Amino acid sequence: MRLILFKQIDYKDNDLIVNGLDENDQRVSFLIRGAKKASSKSAAYSVLGNIYDFICDEDNRQMHRFKGGDLVKANHHIMDSLLKIAVFNCLLELVEKLCQDDEMVFPGLYMNFSKALQLLDQDDHELLVLGLFMACACEMLGIKPQVDSCVCCDEDKIVALNVEQGGFVCQKHHQQEDRLYQDVEALRMFRYLNKARFINYESLRSLDIDISCLHCLKQFLKVHGAINLNSYEFLISITKSAIN
Ligand SMILES: [Zn+2]
Repeated sequence: MRLILFKQIDYKDNDLIVNGLDENDQRVSFLIRGAKKASSKSAAYSVLGNIYDFICDEDNRQMHRFKGGDLVKANHHIMDSLLKIAVFNCLLELVEKLCQDDEMVFPGLYMNFSKALQLLDQDDHELLVLGLFMACACEMLGIKPQVDSCVCCDEDKIVALNVEQGGFVCQKHHQQEDRLYQDVEALRMFRYLNKARFINYESLRSLDIDISCLHCLKQFLKVHGAINLNSYEFLISITKSAIN
């Protein structure tokens, strides 16, 4: 079974439970005995973000016992910078929260998650990767922001984003709490992120991602998707300290 690990849970003194996402976009769990021992060979099979092929039991679907596996892909460069680590933590938490309910399966989640990890590892447009992944998550949850016209009246000329209303608003429907008001560049970027896919990554690389667009996507996930991304706070502190 091929899977990407996204969470580790301590179990007993020396063991770990790892959660992964399989190629069918489903959450799977493995108990890895002795994974916390420094001398253990199995510790190498519990690295978050890595893609593995694990041998699995046929009889127990909820929790497999780890019996060996192969490393398919490691992301060696994700630990190279704090910004990469901060984005990585957001990706892991978002996947974990999307996978919380076993009844809900999001087609394409594995593909998008593996693509995001690959780009985060190999390129240095971390905020773009996170923005595209958060936009993917909104689409998978069915809460995609309306970015073609005013969400209230369908007017083409928009001036701001209203997260609670679900998308862009025109001057007539603009309210005090709106975001990105008259910030043409940020509004355009927010639209791009929500229109694009990872397949369009190359054409977006030259653009500077305005972090306020990410704040808005994070808020969308919270307000409409009931996903509160706690790891996002660390990202904010990193980006603030990079500027000052
Ligand atoms: Zn309107």
